[in-house]
Amino acid sequence: MEKQKSVAVVGGGLVGAMNACYLSSRGFKVDLYEARQDIRTMEIVRGRSINLALSCRGRQALKKVGLEDQVVKDGIPMYARMIHDLNGTLRPIPYGKSDQYIMSVDRRKLNETLLTAAEERPDVTLHFQHKLISCDLEKGKLSFKIAPAHDDDSRGQVYERNGGADVEVTTDLIMGNDGAYSAIRKHMVKRPRFNYSQEYIPHGYMELTVPPHNGEFAMAINYLHIWPRNEYMMIALPNQDKSFTLTLFMPFDMFDQIKTGDDVMRFFMEKFPDSVPLIGEESLKETYFKLPPLPLVSVKCSPYHVSDKAVIMGDAAHAMVPFYGQGMNCGFEDCLVFDEIMEELGNDLSKVLPEFSVVRSPDAHAICDLAMYNYIEMRESVNSRWFLMRKKVDAC
Ligand code: FAD
Repeated sequence: MEKQKSVAVVGGGLVGAMNACYLSSRGFKVDLYEARQDIRTMEIVRGRSINLALSCRGRQALKKVGLEDQVVKDGIPMYARMIHDLNGTLRPIPYGKSDQYIMSVDRRKLNETLLTAAEERPDVTLHFQHKLISCDLEKGKLSFKIAPAHDDDSRGQVYERNGGADVEVTTDLIMGNDGAYSAIRKHMVKRPRFNYSQEYIPHGYMELTVPPHNGEFAMAINYLHIWPRNEYMMIALPNQDKSFTLTLFMPFDMFDQIKTGDDVMRFFMEKFPDSVPLIGEESLKETYFKLPPLPLVSVKCSPYHVSDKAVIMGDAAHAMVPFYGQGMNCGFEDCLVFDEIMEELGNDLSKVLPEFSVVRSPDAHAICDLAMYNYIEMRESVNSRWFLMRKKVDAC
């Protein structure tokens, strides 16, 4: 009988947790290493967007591991964009036919569902507070530092700062799912003929909240609300608790010009007047200064693998700007595509890994480009006469 293969999944975010489910189903002994504490035991989870748009490609990947129904039952369908013009006019723009929609889901809940599903599968062990500090990709060796519970900085600089390792492991396959600032990818970058580019856009983002009003949603529920203002924009997605999470995307130098509570009020009254009573004046002034705006990075690289030993997926392979709502969806699809290639090539990692790079990197690069294009469409083109005319033609 063939010996059971081991895989070390680095990163227990959305893609890592999903990969643990897929790889267990393929008979691997799975050890997942996540730098953060177990989010299921935390009161507040800091990090990226509170909710996400789940689309068809993400759902297909959830379906194959039997989780689609569980996730979808807690989601909120969004059938159209709802454009908020400066003068308060509202204009719905459907995503497709009347029964087609994308779905707003809670990031934390989705990640928790995936971690629990992974943990319940055979031969899966989750190791939290294990931060990868170095690795030898060709030999399948990984070194981890036991991270303090409060340390949620998963960006590069800490790896160099930390001293010796606390835990060392050797594995048959390294699965790098450690996000946009991936430590595994940093090791790949040092290798010959590895293509790599990254771009920070001038915009950052900040999240605000529209609480429920009189126990109900304060805006029409089944929409992705957009306030397009050409150079910048704000969007809102509905949450299960009847609130909306607003995300303001704006150039960093504009964020920097807003220094006081009065500046915030002036800016919002001028640019997003209908949102002010929804957010609430006090809450707006307080939340605006609570956390600094966060950067947005787009990453392209290839190949995604090293020999038969290591592969990267999700944001580690193709972080993208969020305007196409496809980063997670595309990461989920990576897991599905990898699984299909494993099936086709009889789990032979020496063939599967190169094939995954060949098949997946052009598609992921295309989605990164589309996301960058939609950056302009969402904040600007939806305002243009051409766009409105095209929509009228579509409707005919
Ligand atoms: P992550 O979610 O970043 O997970 C990586 C994990 O690895 C983290 O848990 C981290 O702690 C861990 N880690 C990092 N370094 C180490 C290390 N050295 N050792 C161990 N563990 C480590 N996508 C959509 O599809 N739809 C949307 O609507 C959408 N909206 C978005 C809105 C915003 C504002 C942003 C910023 C992104 C959005 N995205 C969206 C993109 C989506 O968030 C990402 O594509 C998705 O989170 C990628 O999942 P991942 O598991 O690859 O990476």
